[in-house]
Amino acid sequence: MVLADLGSRLRGALSSVESASDDEINSMVKDVCTALLESDVNIKLVVRLRDNIKAKIKTELSPEETTANKRKKLQKIIFDELVALVDSHEEPPKPKKLSTSTKVINGKKKKVAKTNSHVIMFVGLQGAGKTTSCTKLAVYYKKRGFKVGLVCADTFRAGAFDQLKQNAIKASIPYYGSYLEQDPVKIAYEGVTKFKSEKFDIIIVDTSGRHRQEQQLFDEMVQIGEMVQPTQTIMVMDGSIGQAAESQAKAFKESANFGSIILTKMDGHAKGGGAISAVAATKTPIVFIGTGEHVGDLEIFKPTTFISKLLGIGDIQSLIEHVQGLNLQNDENHKQTMENIKEGKFTLKDFQNQMNNFLKMGPLTNIASMIPGLSNIMSQVGEEETSKKIKNMVYIMDSMTAQELESDGRIFVDQPSRILRVAKGSGCSAVEIEMVLQQHRLMSTMAKSAVAAGGAPGAPGANP
Ligand code: GDP
Repeated sequence: MVLADLGSRLRGALSSVESASDDEINSMVKDVCTALLESDVNIKLVVRLRDNIKAKIKTELSPEETTANKRKKLQKIIFDELVALVDSHEEPPKPKKLSTSTKVINGKKKKVAKTNSHVIMFVGLQGAGKTTSCTKLAVYYKKRGFKVGLVCADTFRAGAFDQLKQNAIKASIPYYGSYLEQDPVKIAYEGVTKFKSEKFDIIIVDTSGRHRQEQQLFDEMVQIGEMVQPTQTIMVMDGSIGQAAESQAKAFKESANFGSIILTKMDGHAKGGGAISAVAATKTPIVFIGTGEHVGDLEIFKPTTFISKLLGIGDIQSLIEHVQGLNLQNDENHKQTMENIKEGKFTLKDFQNQMNNFLKMGPLTNIASMIPGLSNIMSQVGEEETSKKIKNMVYIMDSMTAQELESDGRIFVDQPSRILRVAKGSGCSAVEIEMVLQQHRLMSTMAKSAVAAGGAPGAPGANP
């Protein structure tokens, strides 16, 4: 079962609970477990998750509670256990910009680095998406103001250097590699030394993913690691490889001792469950997920965000991060929205700004999953229809007055004639206007709860 189907199965299981009777709850738990197993999550993990859920239901749900309360608590229990499944509780190292000071050497003022460059070594099997992810990560950090260099230490695969070079040139990232040198350890060392001397904040080293013999591949990784002394080693894993992920991750862990994982191909047909099991087996955090072939298709992985999206709850944190990638620091509307969110406020105008930003950046599939209600629609009607819906949302908000946009939306409840006016102006139905208002209310509640909780936005408890 691919991830999108897993999401709709989980949502289906949760929404099947109506009266919250024991039978209904048992069948819901069973459905959740079956869906996970069919997505390749390891059986031991599913059994543990089931036992935890059952134990929590026993202690946290009392027969005296209202059905609505029981359903809310059930949702939270399932949410928390799914988060625990993908949360390694390990913090990966975060790159910092180099701090430098000026020293006088031989009578000349020179900048010297006070801290070390952050060296990231990529490992993983050929075809996993290593070279693509190297560039994606380089671009990700470049957009955030880091000075990033790429080193190609894959001399085994013909064309590996060309691929990295082309990607790097397209993204204007400095690169290092050689067509002639056969020794990958030497290239890695030279490249890292060069970029270090040029005071790069982050140096990303791509290594080979295949050899005539597996042992040679692992030996080479160890040697490169010894020479470049990486601050962080990232294993790139194909999200669609299923149960094989676990043994693959263990083998790499033994030789390369990676500390972070990037899961690729989480778009399309990835089941994801096998890779998620690998995370649990190696107790290593997933740092990013690849969601397409394009250089921008890289998302920070956060357990709560991932599960929120899977369950179609929407996720304001991802919205903010997406928008941050647009470099909108000088955009006045954006600044105001950020200020409002910090204060737990989210007006209709903020919603309008965000929607307009999304339309600029696409693809809409990624965006829809962050907005409550839209991921459900997306899985039912497909991308084209969702894209139409998002555009309609923008037309609807364009038809609102400044007073309406600056409001929290209650103005429409007090004066419903406004809904009819906006409907007429935007060419949409009154029901569509009400849906936008409802989605805005959900987002606004999330903004408030994100501020109140100081994190964990998107948790089901945050919904009204
Ligand atoms: P490497 O051998 O590990 O360096 O793998 P490559 O970076 O050459 O990627 C192998 C193939 O996977 C290429 O066709 C990439 O475009 C594709 N690919 C990499 N990451 C993703 C992803 O997140 N989603 C999709 N759909 N394709 C990806």
